Amino acid sequence: MHCPFCQHEDTRVIDSRLAEDGATVRRRRECPQCGERFNTFETAELKLPAIVKSGERRESFDERKLRVSFERALQKRPVASDAVDVSVRTIINDLRKSGDREVPSRQIGELVMRELKKLDQVAYVRFASVYRKFEDVQAFREEIEKLERDLPGLENLQLSLLGEGGIKRSKKG
Ligand SMILES: [Zn+2]
Repeated sequence: MHCPFCQHEDTRVIDSRLAEDGATVRRRRECPQCGERFNTFETAELKLPAIVKSGERRESFDERKLRVSFERALQKRPVASDAVDVSVRTIINDLRKSGDREVPSRQIGELVMRELKKLDQVAYVRFASVYRKFEDVQAFREEIEKLERDLPGLENLQLSLLGEGGIKRSKKG
């Protein structure tokens, strides 16, 4: 890296050691041009990415909002809050591991759907129906049929969902 004193293009690492906490590497560097020495510190970047909303608006990642998405979808569903915690943690870890500086909000939505699918199918379809903005009942039905193919043994999901007001059943007569 450049020398911060004389801006020379290269500096030499003369010592490298792990800090006591085990999470930081300290490097001692020397500039071959001016002879100045300085330290650099290397740590894992665990900052969460900024969320890019539609219209290029950016906002910082908000764990609370993520949790609210789950709670809304899971309202009155038999899912333990511990399981929701695991899902929220999984998403946060995925985002951290990606190392991305920013991610589109769409990507967060996809991650939520992935986790809901594991937790509860009804909640999954609830979330998906709002999130994907199914244009009509037909599109909604297709998604459920896809889900039923993916998860054999899932019977009458469509009926239970329609009964729950995920999407209102059209009145007969
Ligand atoms: Zn220098």
